[in-house]
Amino acid sequence: MSNHSGFGTRAIHAGQHPDETTGAIMTPIYQTSTYVQAAPGEIKGYDYSRTCNPTRTALDGNIAGLEGGKYGLSFSSGMSAINTILNLLQSGDHVIATNDMYGGTYRLCTTLYQKFGVSFSFLDLTDLDAVRAAIRPETKIMFVETPSNPLLRIYDLTALAEICREKDILSVCDNTFATPFNQNPLALGFEVVTHSTTKYLGGHSDVVGGAIVVDREDLRDRLHHFQNTVGGTPGPMDCFLVLRGTKTLHVRMQRHAENAAVIAADLEAHPKVTKVIYPGLESHPQHALAMRQMRTPGGMVSFEVDASVEDAMRLAASFEVFALAESLGGVESLVDHPVSMTHGAIPREERIKSGFQDGLIRLSVGLEDIDDLRADVAQALERLG
Ligand SMILES: *Cc1c(COP(=O)(O)O)cnc(C)c1O
Repeated sequence: MSNHSGFGTRAIHAGQHPDETTGAIMTPIYQTSTYVQAAPGEIKGYDYSRTCNPTRTALDGNIAGLEGGKYGLSFSSGMSAINTILNLLQSGDHVIATNDMYGGTYRLCTTLYQKFGVSFSFLDLTDLDAVRAAIRPETKIMFVETPSNPLLRIYDLTALAEICREKDILSVCDNTFATPFNQNPLALGFEVVTHSTTKYLGGHSDVVGGAIVVDREDLRDRLHHFQNTVGGTPGPMDCFLVLRGTKTLHVRMQRHAENAAVIAADLEAHPKVTKVIYPGLESHPQHALAMRQMRTPGGMVSFEVDASVEDAMRLAASFEVFALAESLGGVESLVDHPVSMTHGAIPREERIKSGFQDGLIRLSVGLEDIDDLRADVAQALERLG
């Protein structure tokens, strides 16, 4: 499957081959830990499933195809993929990262890698001068998430990739929120793309997984070496579930974006809503950049009401179709109150400073009928005091 094929064709066919013995169109779930050798060391590509497994190989090729990259690596979780990228660092190295990154990644950086002598600068990456000023000789990785979470800020991947190239810094993009349907960081000059496949790629809230895609063979080899050494590898059943999800990614993402645009417009017109954050709205500060960088503005919508933490928690719990839950990207619509749920670990002062208020609500707009989603948002806001 060529990387020049259309996105939907790649989503369905990249990395996929009919099973050699039966012709089965879906790659079987190779539920095996080891492989029989014809003679010592004489293997048919597989010797042990931590290192390699045929179901995983099919998923690796599929995700590489989605990102238009050469090499895919599948992981047991998004965190395991990100940890493997950070394994490239050495004591004394420095990392520049978004100041509103996924909380788990922040925790990994601050509780683990700092302990091993890696230092981090968490910055607002929209300020390119501040980014340049933060670069030191020992800066080795720039880690970017766009859209960010939960404020859906958009960072200019082309500009950041250029800075990284100039300064010989490895550019890494966590593309979980955008998905490869909406945005391909490798094509914009980034060297490493990572995903939590738990979210949109799996898409059905039934599996936890991660992925990395790169074009450079030396990087692929180093990352695979760390993956095999540490052992963050996914089981074949999980690989199968993610593969089953990726094949409909393009269809799902279109509807996620259609539904999200309607919900964002409704929220913007609602008298109790003080702010709506959706990259597709002209009111979004980086709307033009989002439209240039992304195929659609995606399925995540955040909004603010002027409410106390307690009232915002009550609002989040009063949705009936949107389920109150962490995570995102599944077919089911989800509602999150970041302050008391996903982002509870960030001290209040710090989050207010970075622009996120007590009354912030984050929606993962799912694939239910739009009229039911609209009615649900309306009834929940109606009950807000
Ligand atoms: C969920 C998420 C992760 C972590 O992935 P897991 O699969 O939960 O380990 C990393 N980055 C982003 C942006 C996420 O949303």
